[in-house]
Amino acid sequence: MKEKRVDAPEFIKWFSELNKDSGKIAGGKGANLGEIYNLKVPVPPGFVITAQAYDYFIEKAGIKEQIKELLSKIHYEDVEQLNEVTDQIRKSIIKAEIPKKMEEEIIEAYSYLDDKNLDNVQGSALDILKNSSEPIFVAVRSSATTEDLAEASFAGQQESFLNVKGNKELLENVKKCFASLFTPRATYYRNKKGFKHEEASLAVIVQKMVDADKSGVIFSKDPSKKDDNIIIEAVWGLGEGIVSGKITPDRYIISENMKVTEKKISEKKIAITRNSAGKREIVKLTQEKSKHQVLKEQEIIKLSEIAIKLEKHFQKPQDIEFAIERDEIYIVQTRPITTMKTRIQEAKELQGEIILTGLAASPGIASGKIKIIEDLKDLKKIRQGDILVTKMTNPDMVVSMQKSAAIVTDEGGLTAHAAIVSREMGIPAVVGTQEATRKLKEGEIITVDGSTGKIYKGKVAENVQKEILPVTSKTKTKIKLIVDLPSFAQRAAKTGIKEVGLTRIEGIIAESGKHPEYFLKQKKMQDYEEIIFKGIRDIAQYFDELWIRTSDIRSDEFKNLEGAPKGIEANPMLGMHGIRYGIKNPEILKSELKALQRVAETGKKIGLLLPQVINVNEVAKVKEFLDEIQFKNVKVGVMIETPSSVQLIRELCNQGIDFISFGTNDLTQYILAVDRGNEQVQHLYNEMHPAILYQLEYVIRVCKRNKVETSICGQAGSRKEMVKFLVEGGIDSISVNADVAKDISDYVSHLEEKFNEPKTEQKNKNWVNKRQTFKLV
Ligand code: PEP
Ligand code: MG
Repeated sequence: MKEKRVDAPEFIKWFSELNKDSGKIAGGKGANLGEIYNLKVPVPPGFVITAQAYDYFIEKAGIKEQIKELLSKIHYEDVEQLNEVTDQIRKSIIKAEIPKKMEEEIIEAYSYLDDKNLDNVQGSALDILKNSSEPIFVAVRSSATTEDLAEASFAGQQESFLNVKGNKELLENVKKCFASLFTPRATYYRNKKGFKHEEASLAVIVQKMVDADKSGVIFSKDPSKKDDNIIIEAVWGLGEGIVSGKITPDRYIISENMKVTEKKISEKKIAITRNSAGKREIVKLTQEKSKHQVLKEQEIIKLSEIAIKLEKHFQKPQDIEFAIERDEIYIVQTRPITTMKTRIQEAKELQGEIILTGLAASPGIASGKIKIIEDLKDLKKIRQGDILVTKMTNPDMVVSMQKSAAIVTDEGGLTAHAAIVSREMGIPAVVGTQEATRKLKEGEIITVDGSTGKIYKGKVAENVQKEILPVTSKTKTKIKLIVDLPSFAQRAAKTGIKEVGLTRIEGIIAESGKHPEYFLKQKKMQDYEEIIFKGIRDIAQYFDELWIRTSDIRSDEFKNLEGAPKGIEANPMLGMHGIRYGIKNPEILKSELKALQRVAETGKKIGLLLPQVINVNEVAKVKEFLDEIQFKNVKVGVMIETPSSVQLIRELCNQGIDFISFGTNDLTQYILAVDRGNEQVQHLYNEMHPAILYQLEYVIRVCKRNKVETSICGQAGSRKEMVKFLVEGGIDSISVNADVAKDISDYVSHLEEKFNEPKTEQKNKNWVNKRQTFKLV
């Protein structure tokens, strides 16, 4: 084991003293900042508290031995214990005192950041620091030194603190960064990867926060197209507006030869800024400012030049964040465009021996050890990073699925449970392989490519996870999200979308481990209501409006939940589930409605979606229940997923519904008589079948006439050919999984630009003709 130097290290390094080889001193991020600083790319001034300073602190504060001892006690597979022990370690770091000399040097460097003398050290940006007597705001970020720890699978795990001001706060946050070396995940990961904890170290970056008048992102190559244009997006104020999707940014396209070939100036409406206390504030812009071009021509060119410089230097297309304060450009961050990597990897087949193929159900690549699950009892075999192989997943497996690196099933199609849940979790999945549980061998390593449906022997590629990108296009046809699981709602919210077009509450029920009939038998309906309420509330915290479906529990999928009915249905798809179940069990349905009512009372807009409707009186009955519990501020919608709901669409509209949503997963199976879960007939399962398109078109037409809002929440809403068909037909919104939201929204924006004229009846007629040109399959 390497011994670390702890005597009189250099506590502070300025960016000018660092370069890409400084990882051992400044960590990955710090070294990167030094590298770009020395390229003469303008970065906000700052310094690094070295990894050696961290070592010195741990040694001198007298907590080294204590940490070592605590680490030796950890049982890595016992999550609770891991949490407990790492928490103790972090607390002891935060409680410890930074040695005097080190503290003085940090404070002195910080004061330099606020000093005119900084010319000598940093060179740029001093004009903005002049005359400031107040301490300045800085960002305090962790920068891990072990190279592998800095890689994508680990990124973002150590903490960063923004808007830090004053000596005391700075020192506290430095210690918090140090402590973040021992989060449960970081500690677990180091152990798993075989790194010695004693060798792990951490540098801390302290960097001036730019008080941005305008900010944005540059893609040195357009990530969504194959050309070499540079794309710049910019907003007034802080860049958060873009990332969160709250503001539609201006978009500039610059050709390779540095000509601005396209400018799309959007209405920004608001800007996010920071007030004098460091709190973020949303400022409403005047009409004039809102429509004003954010970047000046020379700024566009200057930023493009910087982007090219960075791309050349790092030899990879870069995704760059910038901020402009009083006409001074700062580069805040640069990293390789990961989506591009995914796109390229997805497009080409991996090299290796293909041992099995199935349906590509959830994109991404992962390798790991095979764990075959024959029985629910086997689930405890699953360790973080394993490949879950099973006949078919069911909702009881959700927790173990989260631990898996990838999922492979024998059965099922693209709308099967495994596929739906994996996509939401961002886990690569291949379904319907027919023989995975027989052909794959327990304990062997495989690579699963969820983008092509192929499974390879051994590890043939690095893991690639589908990233959630913020949606930036502004579209007339709204893009909404499908969010079923509270624990993945935050991930979905990264799209910046504020409306959920489908929440299946079965995810929440499954996580509780109990069937609604359990509560019924125990006379504990209040508990059931509470579970639904909390689950929906946890999802709703990230969104403004949610359409939530009452439970649709198919008996085969949920038979393992405690208290589930014992009888086996011969045809569960056609059996006792959806709204017919709710009407048969009014206490269950009413508890669900009451839970939604409570969420509505928190200020969220709620729409109620009724599944598997076949009769108008089912809607009437639910309305009676709503009246009974006095739930008034709710929209009522119907899933159009049975042939009868299509046939009865006029009557349903007359019943006073507010919206419909196409459940094409079921509509396709019921219209084509093709079981969506049976892999033998998946080649016939096609949502673009003319018979389906005919139904969709008819329903939209009738709804439009009756001013009933139209939407889709089936998986087909993520298929571009279906999106085109529906957008041309004038559907009001499309709900998709978060991982494709950006893609679909960009596509819709492109379609709408093409069909820019207002959507008239004439347009609909053209659209009908178009449908007729779809060939019979
Ligand atoms: C559908 O049928 O299209 C749908 C969205 O519901 P589920 O997949 O839950 O049946
Ligand atoms: Mg359905």
